[in-house]
Amino acid sequence: MTIDKQVRQRHSLLPNTDQSWLGIMGGGQLGRMFAQAAQSMGYRVAVLEPEAGCPAAQVANHHLQADYDNEDGLAALSKLAASVTTEFENVPASSLSFLANTGFVAPAAACVSIAQDRLVEKHFFTRCAIETGVYPAPHWGIANQNDVASAKQDLFPGILKTARMGYDGKGQVRVKTREELAAAFADMKGQVCVLEKMLPLAYEVSVLVARGVDGQSVVYPIAENVHRDGILFTTLVPSPHVSDEIADKAQKAALAIIAELGYVGVLCIEFFVLQDGSLVVNEMAPRPHNSGHYTIDACVTSQFEQQVLALAQLPLGDVRQHSPAAMLNILGDVWFDVHSDIARTPAWDKVLALPGAKLHLYGKAEARRGRKMGHVTFVAPTLEQAQSSLTQACLILGIAVPEQV
Ligand code: ATP
Ligand code: MG
Repeated sequence: MTIDKQVRQRHSLLPNTDQSWLGIMGGGQLGRMFAQAAQSMGYRVAVLEPEAGCPAAQVANHHLQADYDNEDGLAALSKLAASVTTEFENVPASSLSFLANTGFVAPAAACVSIAQDRLVEKHFFTRCAIETGVYPAPHWGIANQNDVASAKQDLFPGILKTARMGYDGKGQVRVKTREELAAAFADMKGQVCVLEKMLPLAYEVSVLVARGVDGQSVVYPIAENVHRDGILFTTLVPSPHVSDEIADKAQKAALAIIAELGYVGVLCIEFFVLQDGSLVVNEMAPRPHNSGHYTIDACVTSQFEQQVLALAQLPLGDVRQHSPAAMLNILGDVWFDVHSDIARTPAWDKVLALPGAKLHLYGKAEARRGRKMGHVTFVAPTLEQAQSSLTQACLILGIAVPEQV
């Protein structure tokens, strides 16, 4: 029996009953916002996460403090919540399989495993490209020095990325020559890597897509993303640059990819648009995504509500965007004086006075530079007005103002 047939035989989990518990693997901000959405819809939420006082545990109805692969913890989660999802892609796939023995798990371990390994993911995207016409960047797997020697010259300059466990630009080194590649790979201490050709990016976009157990899929508008130091900096929706043709191609590719995976839940796919206008698929996140946070304030159904609906096997919600939106990530840097390491409290009162400001802080006790502490979305009648508020917020918080588009 296929996974699809198995899940179709199950029933919707309605809210507001003794059984209305949803489980989540991981206790970060994505788990927190999922829990908040679930609770507002009448569900109780159990979080499995080893760290005490984490963002999701602060709001969850129950916190199971255990390692992600602890069988007692997993069994307890499964007993409490028959339907479980994950908020981070590096959850052990074996834990999701374990939970699937007794309950409903979405997304499935098989889907999450693909997103956990860049090489497997790129092979999958290449296979999908027969239908989508959208390929990943030229690349080469690097598992040993022979692979370094046999990498095609055309891949330089390139980026060496660890195949597993990379996020926010971590585990990535830019390499101009084969010698630099050899040195960078030696520093990776035996981890399997992928060398990707450095592409001439014009801009970056992401597509948020969701699929229910019945195969019904919905796709959100294209989001345009700017990264700084490998970390998402801003998301603008509607995308100021994307043409109708590219938007259509990216959305169709996302729908084809989610269908091919037989995926249930929210999936985010990142794309590059190159200077010649071509579209390249970068990677996917098997969960709600930072670039989808704008949906909380600017769409009929947020990405977190959508994840709840998919997990509860209810009809998916309307993805319509009712306001243009500009999202600014708030990193720990803003808790420090710009020119020194002296701690300060960011001027939230001034940020909140800006038109259309919607502040979201994740309850992280310690602000560290580069750590995602929250985000603020500006909604406005026009994108230009939302961008103007975002620029003002940067000035208030001591963040370098984004280049004008
Ligand atoms: P995250 O999980 O936070 O999205 P990540 O660590 O998984 O990031 P990538 O998305 O692969 O890493 O890369 C981070 C950023 O580096 C990209 O958003 C893009 O700006 C740049 N980048 C990555 N690969 C390439 C490439 N092949 N050519 C040019 N720029 C690239
Ligand atoms: Mg990325």
